[in-house]
Amino acid sequence: MLLTISTTHTPATDLGYLLHKNPARAQSFDLSFGKAHVFYPEAGDERCTAALMIELDTVGFVRGGRGPAGEGFALRQYVNDRPYAASSFMSVAIARVFGTALSGRCAQRPELVETPIPLTATLAALPCRGGEALLRRLFEPLGYRVEASRHPLDPAFPEWGDSPYFTVTLSANARLADLLSHLYVLIPVLDDEKHYWVDAEEVEKPLRHGEAWLPAHPERETIVQRYLRRRKEYTREALARLAEEDAPDPDAEEEARNREEETVEAPMRLNDARMAAVAGALRETGARRVLDLGCGEGRLIKALMADRQFTEIAGIDVSLRSLEIAERRLNLENLAPRQRERVRLLHGSLVYRDRRLEGYDAAAVVEVIEHLDPPRLVAFERALFEFARPGAVVVTTPNSEYNALWESLPAGSLRHRDHRFEWTRAEFAAWANAVAERHGYSVAFSPIGPEDPALGAPTQMALFTLNDTR
Ligand code: SAH
Repeated sequence: MLLTISTTHTPATDLGYLLHKNPARAQSFDLSFGKAHVFYPEAGDERCTAALMIELDTVGFVRGGRGPAGEGFALRQYVNDRPYAASSFMSVAIARVFGTALSGRCAQRPELVETPIPLTATLAALPCRGGEALLRRLFEPLGYRVEASRHPLDPAFPEWGDSPYFTVTLSANARLADLLSHLYVLIPVLDDEKHYWVDAEEVEKPLRHGEAWLPAHPERETIVQRYLRRRKEYTREALARLAEEDAPDPDAEEEARNREEETVEAPMRLNDARMAAVAGALRETGARRVLDLGCGEGRLIKALMADRQFTEIAGIDVSLRSLEIAERRLNLENLAPRQRERVRLLHGSLVYRDRRLEGYDAAAVVEVIEHLDPPRLVAFERALFEFARPGAVVVTTPNSEYNALWESLPAGSLRHRDHRFEWTRAEFAAWANAVAERHGYSVAFSPIGPEDPALGAPTQMALFTLNDTR
């Protein structure tokens, strides 16, 4: 796998500063899937070229279970294009080896980072599933001149036709950080090989590195969908984040559904009771720094802000639209600085480990778990109880037994169209007890809302407290 980047900016060896790699020295880096080497085939004042070469550890790669299982022919696991074709492995290597350059930092020469310079990137073998047309649709809107020459499947047998591999040269007057971010996101899109992902959880990264340009890219849907191939639920989430006025807006649908749920639950002012119960439970744990996970439009945050015990409140949600509404409803812009500083709204997903969520006294997860598909519920459990690991966690979820008492709810239906499940009290208790057991917490349950003697209350709450392990 080979990528070269050249410039004719003068002095051309500035490329070394930008890449944080000395042109005079070849360097190697260990990656989880092999080795990356950086060297400069040429380094003159007028022209400088840096090369990133990746050696894939094919055997380790198969052992690691990342090869294609049982498809095609028996040796396909070992004999395939991965060592040669630019793919998500190339992207990961770019991020690892040129991470500082990718993020646009250069302490020694900050002005250089911001300067567009003449750059040419060449990929020796880029698989372009979708052909040259897609290659052009991806790079030309970003300002590149694209040259592509397609390789035959086998030069000795021209009748076999073309391969999907191209040698591709991209030229532009651009910032190096932009070039790297375009390559980082778009190489795996063109490769589109569903069998091989360096890491199945590479959802946040393309979005983060594409933030500046992806929302306006005419092919953004193709880009996101291909990136997240076979992971439909991820696609939805990712598109929601990139949603623009002109695109169908999944968040707007979410909002409409929330209204529906409110209509079902309205006569009881259940929501107020829920916020009061959760705020009360958090207060009793003695927590000062708290998280509201899946904070939505900020209803719990509002209740928490009214209590001075909570010195720091961080809300996190995957829906940008909800965060915007929360920001407006909480009137954050106009608060006194001391009040303003108590509250932070974070954009993120609860199903990934997130360092920003570590070190809090307590977390609330109000009416969120029922929105997660079962495999993501497992990921959420680990992200929260294993990694973020707050001293206490309050979780609420509907009690499905109670649904029978709602006139406006047809028998057997869920309260909200986006709910993946609704649990009975026994089901919730089974999940919560198992989670507590797995992660060293104790758990206690309480009802929220008017209690029916047989069916319980409309909302169920679990309070987890971290066992003292001293
Ligand atoms: N806790 C709020 C909102 C509940 S609705 C309240 O009680 O008012 C569920 C919320 O969970 C929505 O705002 C939705 O965007 C959010 N959500 C769903 N899946 C999520 C995920 N994977 N990561 C973060 N937030 C998520």
